[in-house]
Amino acid sequence: MKQNLFVYNTLTRKKEEFKPLNAPHVGMYVCGPTVYSDVHLGNCRTYISFDLMFRYLTAIGYKVRYVRNVTDAGHLEGDAGDEGEDKISKKAKIAQLEPMEIVQKYTVGFHDVMQILNTLPPSIEPTATGHIIEQIEMVKLILENGYAYEVDGSVYFDVEKYNKTKNYGILSGRNLEDLLNNTRTLGGQQEKHGKLDFALWIKAKPEHLMKWPSPWGVGFPGWHLECSAMSQKYLGDQFDIHGGGLDLVPTHHTNEIAQHVACCGKNPANYWVHTNMLTVNGQKMSKSLGNSFLPHELFSGENSILNKGYSPMTVRFFMLQAHYRSTLDFGNEAMEASEKGFKRLMNAYALLDGLKASNSTEIEIEPLMARCYAAMNDDFNSPVLIAELFEASRIINSVHDGKMKIDAANLELLKTLMHTFVEDILGLKDEQADNDDLPKILNLIVSLRNEAKSNKDYATSDKIREGLSQIGFQLKDSKEGTLWSKS
Ligand code: AMP
Ligand code: ZN
Repeated sequence: MKQNLFVYNTLTRKKEEFKPLNAPHVGMYVCGPTVYSDVHLGNCRTYISFDLMFRYLTAIGYKVRYVRNVTDAGHLEGDAGDEGEDKISKKAKIAQLEPMEIVQKYTVGFHDVMQILNTLPPSIEPTATGHIIEQIEMVKLILENGYAYEVDGSVYFDVEKYNKTKNYGILSGRNLEDLLNNTRTLGGQQEKHGKLDFALWIKAKPEHLMKWPSPWGVGFPGWHLECSAMSQKYLGDQFDIHGGGLDLVPTHHTNEIAQHVACCGKNPANYWVHTNMLTVNGQKMSKSLGNSFLPHELFSGENSILNKGYSPMTVRFFMLQAHYRSTLDFGNEAMEASEKGFKRLMNAYALLDGLKASNSTEIEIEPLMARCYAAMNDDFNSPVLIAELFEASRIINSVHDGKMKIDAANLELLKTLMHTFVEDILGLKDEQADNDDLPKILNLIVSLRNEAKSNKDYATSDKIREGLSQIGFQLKDSKEGTLWSKS
């Protein structure tokens, strides 16, 4: 099934068959967060989308090296240009902390949120500050190759020179003239030869906190450079997938491609994959617009725009119900609908282990399984997959209610389908199973069973033992009493 995966490539603006350079290995780089504040739900949407891709590629047999960086230096306030202060340094000054204390705090917070949302950790999570040497080496190469120039301790990329032989706007599909005419003049322009030039290395002012020595003096790397240096270090000159949010296309990813081509002569990635934005009333959720809110506010409901809180898996399900390339508008009604849908799916999932096979079958699962793969092979279409899983849930409910017969082989396939797509690929888990009260409830059931046994009501005690066994709990009578364990 894996040969049929199609992925939308921003570079070519069409869905293309996914052909890794070195199958079964896949290299995937995703731009990670700038750890100067808590990640908001919009950021989470992007990382959940790439988690879905990582999980799917793994599920169909690829060995994925998933690199997602942490930006802990070099990202200036003006995202598009080289203006303003370093976001982390600024926060450190305000909080009177070391920049690395800020980095630590928000990296830990980011990991916590990712874990709560059940996203898998990447294979490598490199940081910008851990790769200063690699970045300096890359600047040297770009200078040597003639695509950059130095002015008073800073180094800039020469976009117009690059565009003479290469295509600077290849990713956005915009030509240089158009870009030159439609770009506002940004800060830090005085030293630049051209309006679109961007910094590879920036001379540090004396008050700047995070700085390193370099051949051009004390300074710090430009934001775009870290991703070029780290993706090349861990995935090579050319790899399969490079991803990030759609808002990174015009500047960050455009500049990453230019740097990489200037350095290595090739576009780093064959497939450029971009996730669409989480919006609130149609507007991109962003910290600077003031319409962002935090994952824990959504879990607890503590935000004036929320009617109530929603569990982390409901939030994940809500995100997966939209295709990653569509915008997704956040709203109470949409969340409530997702909560109902998620419960419906999980209720069916919980019935699965207790279903009994018949001698004959009224349903074939194979075509449903094929449709689930077809949905994911069509550019990771999770909403279509979820619709198929609702169909599987209807089957489970019918078999459970005795309205439909299923034989052992089809029942086994149905179980595989649900485990593979719900747990492994969508990364959804039954939150009830995490319930801290579960041991207490089990102990209560065990004591009722023992009471029945001591009253010689063996029919009831056996029924309890068998019922627990069907849902995966084994009972063992010992001198210390009856112990339960999950098989
Ligand atoms: P940042 O920390 O600002 O560099 O953003 C981290 C990632 O989150 C980037 O890939 C952004 O494109 C993405 N992102 C930011 N805002 C949103 C949003 N509202 N919806 C989806 N992704 C977003
Ligand atoms: Zn990046």
